Amino acid sequence: MAKVSLSLGKSDRTCADCTKCCEGWLSANILGEDMFPGKPCQFVTPGVGCTIYKDRPKDPCKNFECAWRATDYVPLEFSPANTGQIIVPYQLDGIDFLSMVFAGKEVQPDFLSWFVTFAVGRQLNVEWSINGQLYALGSQAFMEARARRDKDNKVKPSIEKNS
Ligand code: SF4
Ligand code: SF4
Repeated sequence: MAKVSLSLGKSDRTCADCTKCCEGWLSANILGEDMFPGKPCQFVTPGVGCTIYKDRPKDPCKNFECAWRATDYVPLEFSPANTGQIIVPYQLDGIDFLSMVFAGKEVQPDFLSWFVTFAVGRQLNVEWSINGQLYALGSQAFMEARARRDKDNKVKPSIEKNS
C-alpha cells in the first residue's frame, strides 16, 4: 500500500476565509485551552480568521495544513469551506491514511465519489463518515489497525502532529 505523501504536489494555495480547522471539528490544545467538537478555538472568528494570526503557536497552528491546503491533488472546488469536510493526513500504528473529517456539512456525493476514486487510483488508505458512521478503504494492515483503534475507542480527530 502506497504511503500518503504530501509530496504529491506542493500547493501555493492559501486558506483565504476558511477557518474550518480552528472551529473545533478537530481536537487540539491551543495555548493551554482545549479545542474539540462543540468548542472552537478561543481565537477564531469563523469564516474570517485568527485574531492572533501573527502570534499563533507553531504547534499545532503553524505546523498544520489540511490536504486541500497542502497540495494540489484535492480539486479547488472541494475546499473545506465548500465541502464542510477536512481531509487530514494521519498515521495509525505507523500506517499513513487520509481521514475526511466532518466539519459542519454531511459529505456530498460528488466529493465522496472523487475521494474514493482518488484513494483507489493511488492505493491510499482512507476513512470517512456519513451520518456519524465510519467507513474505510485500504490495506489489510490498515483495516486491522482501525479495528484495534475502534476497540480501544481512540477515535479523536486531532490537528496535533502525529508523525
Ligand atoms: S481547513 Fe485547511 S484550508 Fe481551511 S483553514 Fe485549515 S488548513 Fe486552511
Ligand atoms: S490560534 Fe490557531 S487554532 Fe486558534 S484561530 Fe488561530 S490559527 Fe486557528
